[in-house]
Amino acid sequence: MRMCAVCKKRRPKSELLRYTCAADAAAPVPDAAQKAPGRGVYHCPDAQCGEAFAQRGAKRRKRRAL
Ligand SMILES: [Zn+2]
Repeated sequence: MRMCAVCKKRRPKSELLRYTCAADAAAPVPDAAQKAPGRGVYHCPDAQCGEAFAQRGAKRRKRRAL
């Protein structure tokens, strides 16, 4: 089980989209293969969570990694 970074709902990993926060990336990168190295963050495939995640990720990235 993984937790959505936006709504904090717990779902099976297979139901969530994985993103990784590479040190040199401006924003979390989608990890379609689900196995990129580095810290992974997950969110629901819903448009609502996707949009909130994109906005929040871009903002938070300036202070510290997700
Ligand atoms: Zn969610």
